[in-house]
This record gives sequence, C-alpha cells and structure tokens, in this order.
Amino acid sequence: MITKTFSIDKEDIDDKILKKASEIINDGELVAFPTETVYGLGADGLNSNACQKIFKAKGRPSDNPLILHISNKTMLYNLVDDINEDAKKLMESCWPGPLTLILKKSNKIPDIVTAGLDTVAIRMPSDKIASRFIEISNTPIAAPSANTSGKPSPTRAKDVFQDLNGKISMILDGGSCKIGIESTVVDCSEDNPVILRPGFYTFEDLQKIIPTITLDDSLISDEKTPRSPGQKYRHYSPNAKMKVYIGSNAANKMLEEANKFKNQGLKVGVLTFNDSISLFDDFKSMSFGDRDNLSYMSHVLFTALREMDNNGVDIILAEGVNENNLGKSIMNRMKKSASNNIFYI
Ligand code: AMP
Ligand code: MG
Repeated sequence: MITKTFSIDKEDIDDKILKKASEIINDGELVAFPTETVYGLGADGLNSNACQKIFKAKGRPSDNPLILHISNKTMLYNLVDDINEDAKKLMESCWPGPLTLILKKSNKIPDIVTAGLDTVAIRMPSDKIASRFIEISNTPIAAPSANTSGKPSPTRAKDVFQDLNGKISMILDGGSCKIGIESTVVDCSEDNPVILRPGFYTFEDLQKIIPTITLDDSLISDEKTPRSPGQKYRHYSPNAKMKVYIGSNAANKMLEEANKFKNQGLKVGVLTFNDSISLFDDFKSMSFGDRDNLSYMSHVLFTALREMDNNGVDIILAEGVNENNLGKSIMNRMKKSASNNIFYI
C-alpha cells in the first residue's frame, strides 16, 4: 500500500483534501489525522472490518479498546445509552477538547471498538482539522494514537510516516500537535467519576468541575493494576534505554552518569531544562524549555524521545518533574517510557 501525505493549513482548511480522506474512511480504510493531543489513526468507528485494520497496522493488543471521536453532540446520542449528570458537566466544560469520557455503550457500536466491554470511550476533539474531518466523514471515527504500539506517540506527520508508511492509505499533515500528550480519560459509566489516565486536563482542573472525582488507584500507587486496559502495557518507549532523574541535584547527577556512559563507549542523549542544558554540550541534548512551563514540556516530550532515537543514542538521561498538576500527566508518560527507571536525587 502506498501512504500519501497531504498538508493542510489549519487557518484555511481545504475541504477537497478532507473529502478525499473521508471517502477513504467511508470505504473502510485508514487515515491518520492531527488532533490537539497527538496524531490519531482513524477508521470508521461503526465498521468492524475497518477497526480491525487499526489493530493490525499498529500491532495493538486486541483487548485495548479504541476511542470514538465525534464532531457534535448529536453523534453522541447514537453511541451511548445513558449520560449521567457528572458526564454532562464534564462535556459542558471540556468539550471540544482533550477529555475522553467512558460511558455505557449502545448496541450500535461494534465489539471490536470496545474490546468486548459494555462501555465506550468518546472524545470530541477541538482541533479544527480533526473536527471538520469527522464532520465530513459523517461517522464517529475510531482513533488510537497513530504510532506502532509501544512507541512514543506521534506529534508530527513525519512520526506517523516513520511508523506506518505502507500500512495506511493517507496521512493528513496539520503540523505539530499543540498539546503533545494524550487526552485525560475519565470513567463516567458509574456514579462517581474516576480519572483512568491523566492528560492535559489535570486532577486539579477536573476537581473544580466535579469535587468528588477521584484518581484510579493505579495512578496513586505503581503497585495497583490499572482499570483502563491500555494503561497496563509497555508504552511510549523509545528504542534507547531511558533513565529519569528528579530533584534539585538531578542535572549534576545526570552529568556524572552521562560521562560514565560515554566512557563506556555509549552514545548518550540528554533531556533537561533551559537552565541546565549548557552542562551537556558534549552530548546529544535537547531542552524541555523553562522549568516552570509544563505545557511546553508536554508539547515536546514525545518529539524529543523520537528525535533521540532518530539520532541513534544508546541511552537517554531525562530530567523529570514533581507530580503536581500537569506534572502528574507528564510523569505518567515518562515512567512508562523509562520502564519505571526513576531516580529521586
Ligand atoms: P489511545 O490508545 O491513546 O487512544 O488510548 C485510549 C485509552 O483509552 C487506552 O488507555 C484505553 O485502554 C482506554 N479506553 C478505551 N476504551 C475504554 C473503556 N471502555 N474503558 C476503559 N478504558 C478505555
Ligand atoms: Mg496510544
């Protein structure tokens, strides 16, 4: 299969390209598209055969359910049986945007989408290209991140091409994703909403909307099994081994370690903040920006991991952050990227 990439200007969207993309979706094939979080690998969410192709192209385990992306509330009422008051409040405040809600599914949704569960994950993205693409396709679009399962999520069209060239029909290139990490997932299928995956919307943000909202046990203790199937897999992993350092002396410890690995003949990559980056001129280094700008850090995290792999480093030493606010979502990704090799210095 030949994978074609088409560039789209967000400020002047060419409907002709989106029409072509939607025909591919309606024919049961795959199109990767930008969203405000990461690039998604889309298929017609009501077509089992098309959704099956997502699992094959990504190498995704079949027990990991997909998120259905919608462009308006009318689409939602077809897909779910019951929407409780908390879910309505969250939609009101956070849609369109980077929030996925788990709701009781209707019988219109193929089993493959939900991996056999009686609940379904639904999101209304705010990205203009994503929204218009779903609208023109006129069907909910099932879309996990458009990467090979286990790899860092794609935040640029070229990341999608690297992983899925020859496996999908089309990539819509809308530039780099604004947020850079995946949506916050909240289970609203029962009475008390639970955050299953932290994302751009943080626990603190959502508490202001639903004071009784809680975090899944697995987000409080690393020992607990996550309730969301996707959270239990090896994930977001670069090819290089990765170690994460946190604390006021982290950069100095990283320098010591970087020199040690270099002396062992390894190519070392370093990810730290602007105030420490000059320590690492002898290594392949990239900055997470200013220490207090966590939005920027989330925007560049996956891009940086992919660039480290593109540069062929053997080991990545990365500086982590405290788990407050967006820091919790960032560390959720970094812990998985580093297979829990986290050091508090
Ligand atoms: P992604 O692969 O980034 O699209 O992530 C989708 C996330 O939503 C994964 O962690 C899934 O396990 C989770 N998810 C999707 N559907 C459900 C569901 N019905 N119940 C719980 N988690 C779900
Ligand atoms: Mg993913």
